[in-house]
Amino acid sequence: MTYGRAFRSGVTGSDMSESKTYSGGCHCGAVRYEVELDLTKPVISCNCSMCGRVGSLLTFVPAANFKLLQGEDSLTDYQFNKHVIHHVFCNTCGIKSFARGKGRDGGDTVAINTRCLDGVELDKLNVTAYDGKNK
Ligand SMILES: [Zn+2]
Repeated sequence: MTYGRAFRSGVTGSDMSESKTYSGGCHCGAVRYEVELDLTKPVISCNCSMCGRVGSLLTFVPAANFKLLQGEDSLTDYQFNKHVIHHVFCNTCGIKSFARGKGRDGGDTVAINTRCLDGVELDKLNVTAYDGKNK
């Protein structure tokens, strides 16, 4: 049930040695962002009620590594369960390219849907299953 727990457990600290800057966003282009992250690290495929439906492949970064370039006004916020995570999606095309919440240390954290990054080969990602449904 708790996407929130995947969120908190997904933050891997300050080892950003392989990190690069990626751009990404929604389908229609209203929402665009830049994010610094390390895609050699595992991305999470979670089976909770949210991720199981969306199919997100998530990686988590401190909010400082994430820059929303445009589209704040195009985001609709959806919350469920404990209402600790802001599941934002584009109100034009419906794509959920990231989510906002708090990490394990209480710091602002962004969950990136790596499927929404430009130029990323999805079959090269190191996908790790996370049993969010039963945690
Ligand atoms: Zn859009």
